[in-house]
Amino acid sequence: MGVTLDLSHAANLPRATRTAAKPNLSGLTRAELATALVAAQVVRPEKAKMRATQLWRWIHHYGVTDFAQMTDVAKEMRASLAEAFTLARPEIVERQVSKDGTRKWLIRTAPGIEVEAVYIPDVGRAGALCVSSQVGCTLNCTFCHTGTQALVRNLTAAEIVAQVQVARDDLGEWPSPKEDRRLSNIVFMGMGEPLYNLDSVAGAIDIIADNEGIAISRRRITVSTSGVVPELQPLGERTQAMLAISLHATNDPLREQLVPLNKKYPLAELMAGVRAYPGLSNAKRVTFEYVMLKGVNDSPAEAKALVQLLKGIPAKINLIPFNPWPGSPYECSDWGTIEAFAAILNRGGYASPIRTPRGRDILAACGQLKSESEKVRASVRRKAERAPAAPEA
Ligand code: SAH
Ligand code: SF4
Repeated sequence: MGVTLDLSHAANLPRATRTAAKPNLSGLTRAELATALVAAQVVRPEKAKMRATQLWRWIHHYGVTDFAQMTDVAKEMRASLAEAFTLARPEIVERQVSKDGTRKWLIRTAPGIEVEAVYIPDVGRAGALCVSSQVGCTLNCTFCHTGTQALVRNLTAAEIVAQVQVARDDLGEWPSPKEDRRLSNIVFMGMGEPLYNLDSVAGAIDIIADNEGIAISRRRITVSTSGVVPELQPLGERTQAMLAISLHATNDPLREQLVPLNKKYPLAELMAGVRAYPGLSNAKRVTFEYVMLKGVNDSPAEAKALVQLLKGIPAKINLIPFNPWPGSPYECSDWGTIEAFAAILNRGGYASPIRTPRGRDILAACGQLKSESEKVRASVRRKAERAPAAPEA
């Protein structure tokens, strides 16, 4: 049995009140780590930075989950750390492997908080991990399974980083390899709208991209948004991540149907926001995602309109064959239609790879993610979170 952890609040608790769950150090930023060590009186303030650097390498480069493995830390210090803190991973509720090698984990980070993360081999440089940023989503894009699940809550930075750590554990990728990695890219394309949770997303990227740890370059981290225009500039400035826009339509009436957020931020505003994205250049192009829906947005005229809409923007277009889910109201475009659409984009000067559906047999493909977590009253959740953690087997 695993340990059920609440990664979200424990680190802030003073020593005297830490009865149930010990604070978990493995999802803290460097600054938070130093603060936690001092607050717990395990480390003196003047040594905090040095100790945090030392622990950081163990946690994020070597991936250790036991203080006893930190061989260059004095025995007494290891004992005090173990008494005050934990490095345990969240519980893996379910692990599935698709026949195409895609892996999906259902991870419980706190009582009632379950998220999915998906590893897709042979995507990006070597393999991409698709992480979730929220449990559920407040937006209701009509083609998306996650959109049918009400928002339960935002994930913390720790809960986002935990998805990467779980994947790394499963892939056997510790210590963090510099080359020949299986997990080379991170995409924020799982459950939720990352730009409605920018603080946690930015904190998680700071941890994941840190050179002395997991060390996945910011250029290999892509954040996908349905178009929260006011957060585009802050995203670029705070994270330097690659940007992906879920476009799906070239005119406002259709986009409003597919992505209701378009009513708030219509196409003209969205495109202006994209053009102003920090660092946008031919070397750092924006990706436009376009889900192929039969008879809805897949005509040659729409392909031509797409080329017009993107004129002058350093961009590539990712055509995503629609992935069905139980009760979904659309069908995927025919393969020939998708190829004809791609050919028009190519002639217009845009690389437009068709995203091969991966992991469909385990409902791990784009837009198929959904967990059973439901919104429970905050008071009920808080009560559950105060309950003692399950003992380790
Ligand atoms: N909320 C963010 C990121 C998560 S969705 C966003 O909307 O961008 C990740 C991608 O999957 C988006 O491009 C989304 O439009 C796409 N998607 C959602 N449902 C899908 C489905 N059923 N089939 C194919 N792609 C889908
Ligand atoms: Fe939310 Fe993205 Fe799904 Fe839209 S496509 S409902 S924004 S997760």
